Amino acid sequence: MDKSTPKNTNHMKNIRSQSQLENKVSKALWKKGIRFRKNVKLFGTPDIAITKYKIVIFIDSCFWHSCPIHGKIPKTNEEFWIKKLGRNMKRDIDVNRYYEEEGWHLLRIWEHEIKENFEGTIDKIIGFINFHKNNLFS
Ligand SMILES: [Zn+2]
Repeated sequence: MDKSTPKNTNHMKNIRSQSQLENKVSKALWKKGIRFRKNVKLFGTPDIAITKYKIVIFIDSCFWHSCPIHGKIPKTNEEFWIKKLGRNMKRDIDVNRYYEEEGWHLLRIWEHEIKENFEGTIDKIIGFINFHKNNLFS
């Protein structure tokens, strides 16, 4: 039996559940009157962007972004995953640095935050947006 098959299926599931999470967050924000764009063609393709206020929000999958609590290296093709996930981490750092240098406000949300405390995470996002909206000239 091909050992890699179940693992790969899990990764595909991860990707699907990730976009479901993003949709859930988007809907909740929209309902609360927050207007934004999704998957904007900005550096790193932020999940949520309000360009007017220079706000970008990334929803990071615990697996693909190596969350300190849930991130892990799959045992199958370990070397491949070390490289792949390492590149992702480096990319996240580059993205953070880019927005910082450009004077944008960046927020990263972990997948597990949404799963563990959905309302709290929505409030956190709204708080972040409102704070930077109101500090437009800071
Ligand atoms: Zn996590």
